[in-house]
Amino acid sequence: GAKAAGKGTYAIYSPLMLEALEARVKLEADLRRAVEQHQFRVVYQPLVDIGTGSVNGVEALVRWHHPERGLIGPVDFIPLAESTGLIGAIGEYVLREACQQVAGWRSTVPGAENLRVSVNLSAQQLEDPGLLSLVTQVLQETGLPATSLVLEITEGVLVNHHEAALSTLNALRAMGVRLAIDDFGTGYSSLSYLHRLPVDILKIDKSFVDRLSDNGDLSLVDAIVSMATTLGLATVAEGIEHEHQRTALQIQGCDTGQGYHFSPPVSAELVPELVVAALTSPSAAQPLERTGE
Ligand code: C2E
Ligand code: MG
Ligand code: MG
Ligand code: MG
Repeated sequence: GAKAAGKGTYAIYSPLMLEALEARVKLEADLRRAVEQHQFRVVYQPLVDIGTGSVNGVEALVRWHHPERGLIGPVDFIPLAESTGLIGAIGEYVLREACQQVAGWRSTVPGAENLRVSVNLSAQQLEDPGLLSLVTQVLQETGLPATSLVLEITEGVLVNHHEAALSTLNALRAMGVRLAIDDFGTGYSSLSYLHRLPVDILKIDKSFVDRLSDNGDLSLVDAIVSMATTLGLATVAEGIEHEHQRTALQIQGCDTGQGYHFSPPVSAELVPELVVAALTSPSAAQPLERTGE
C-alpha cells in the first residue's frame, strides 16, 4: 500500500482512497478560498445563569457558508483548518467579530451591560507567539474589557501544551482575560495538575450532563462541581437539553448552563431579543424555591 512505499517506488491507491484524497485536496482549496472570500460567520449560544435564567454570556461558534455545499459545521472543517494552518486566520476572524458584536450589545441592549463572550481556541492558536498581541489589539479596537473575554481551551490541548503556551496563558490571565477548560472530563488531567494551570472556569462535558436522568447517577457531576469549588473555579454545564438536567445541576451547585434547553446557537441578529426575553421572563430556569408550586 501507499504507506509502505519508499523513495523510488510508487504508491498504489485504491479508487476509494483516491476519491477521499481528491475530496480532501478540493476541500483544502475551498477552505483557502473561504478565508479570502470571508465565507465564515459566527453564531452565538447563550450561557445562562442556572438559577435565574438570565443570559450572562454567549459562546461564539464558527460556521462556514460554502457557496456550493451550504452550511458546514466546525467539526467538519476545524481539523483541516488546523492541519493546513488556516486556523490562524479563521480564529482571528472569530475573535475580532465576536468581541466587536458583544461590545456593541453591551452598549445598546438592556440587560447585556455585563455580557461576556467565550471564544474557542485551538492548540495552534495557543502555540502562536502572536496570540497575546492579537488579543490585546482586539480588546483595544473593540473596547471590550479583558475581564469579559473568556478563552475556551479543551482539556486535551491543555494537557499537551508546551511551556511557551503556559506563559501565554499566564500573560492573558494577568491582563484579566478568563480561561475555561472546555469539554472537561474527557481528558486525563489530575487534580494536582489542574491546580497549577491558570484557569477560572470548568466546562463540564455534555457526556456527563447526558447521564443525568431523573433518578440517575449524580456522583460524577457532584465530584466535578465539588472539585471545582475547592479549586475556586466556576462551572458551566454543556449540552443541557432537559429541565430535569437543569434542576439536578442547580442542586449540585453548578453556576451556569448552556444547551438546547435554553437556546441553540443563533445568528447575531437574534441575540438581543434572547437577552431581553430572559430579563423579562426567565421561563427556562425557575429559582429552586419556586419549583413544586
Ligand atoms: P464546543 O466548544 O464544546 O461547543 C459546544 C458544541 O455543542 C457546539 O457545537 C454547540 O452547538 C453544541 N451544543 C450546544 N448545546 C447543545 C445541546 O444541548 N445538545 C447538543 N447535542 N449539542 C449542543 P458546534 O457549534 O458544532 O461546535 C463544535 C465544536 O467545534 C466546538 O465544541 C468547538 O470545539 C469547535 N469550534 C466551534 N467554533 C470554533 C472556533 O471558532 N474555533 C475553534 N478552534 N473551534 C471551534
Ligand atoms: Mg467551547
Ligand atoms: Mg465545549
Ligand atoms: Mg463539547
